[in-house]
Amino acid sequence: MNIPSKYPLTKSLALLVTALSFLLASGCSQDKPYRESRFLMGTLVEIAAYPDTNRVRTAVAEAYVRMEAIEAATDHRKEDSVLAALRRGERVTLSGDLRAVFASAMMIARESSGAFDPTMGKVVSLWGFDMDTPRLPLEQELRNSLKTVGFEKVTLSGSIIKAGSPVWLDLGGVAKGYAVDEAVKVLKEQGASAGIVNAGGDLKAFGRKPGGKRWRIGVQAPDDHQELAGVLEIANGAVATSGDYERYFETGGKRYHHILDPETGYPARSGLRSVTIVAFDCLLADALSTAIFVMGPEKGLELLKGRDGVHAVLVLETGEVLTTSGVGSEVGFERR
Ligand code: AMP
Ligand code: MG
Repeated sequence: MNIPSKYPLTKSLALLVTALSFLLASGCSQDKPYRESRFLMGTLVEIAAYPDTNRVRTAVAEAYVRMEAIEAATDHRKEDSVLAALRRGERVTLSGDLRAVFASAMMIARESSGAFDPTMGKVVSLWGFDMDTPRLPLEQELRNSLKTVGFEKVTLSGSIIKAGSPVWLDLGGVAKGYAVDEAVKVLKEQGASAGIVNAGGDLKAFGRKPGGKRWRIGVQAPDDHQELAGVLEIANGAVATSGDYERYFETGGKRYHHILDPETGYPARSGLRSVTIVAFDCLLADALSTAIFVMGPEKGLELLKGRDGVHAVLVLETGEVLTTSGVGSEVGFERR
């Protein structure tokens, strides 16, 4: 099959154009943050932290070390990993970061009735969205792989995962959010007064910038990396986006993206082009954005009801932009 080179290769610049660009208002020179960017977790991770001192520069380096550790713990590709053992049907104990990410993923799986499902690993790897060579799987392959999917077949008892059969975990829909939260913890603990950690559009901002300005976060328009659907303004907290333009390929005149419907194994077509979630924690924002993308606008907005401090901006296939009631009041939003 001919796979066009349209897919944004993991290390290509295309992927570095993030779903959300963070727009830092520039202050006078001594008010500038220390900034650094590194390629991590399949994306460009940008950190900006105030004030620009040696102590804060060391904190930024430590934050990257923390994120690298989380990347290693949640990477399902390593053959000598806990996740590989789980795929072979072995009984495993999850520790530290892996346990924390998995427990949160299972919570969102339950709350979204499986629209978000961390056991999608076999289906995700069939499509190859986690590699540089995605492809359209055969229907038979998809049917077979779907048999391994089902978060309800898995339980976490303490730190031990229990399942009757091999489990293919894919934590790609939440791991970045968790890593962003943990990086922010390191920055705060080590003396940064304000800052932002942006992992390819999944980001968290904290503290007050010099001059007291709020953080301005661009919500990307689906079809043009240069265009914005709007700009959010937050005092602090996290923003994450799931969009059908983030990772995709085209074949046979059709476009296939990386957010899969656990019912069918195919890319979710729920009427949405992107879901942006604002929440206090990036892990929650990350998981909810993926879940709601699969659920669609109606069920998705239902899932958000009663969640204090959680807001959403949905870009529909029709081009319409829907926002929850706190957008424009609790968090600022300018439509573009
Ligand atoms: P995000 O970009 O945060 O929406 O996450 C998408 C990533 O999550 C994909 O690249 C897959 O690794 C994984 N994924 C895809 N579909 C699902 C799903 N329905 N539930 C959980 N994870 C998924
Ligand atoms: Mg996500």
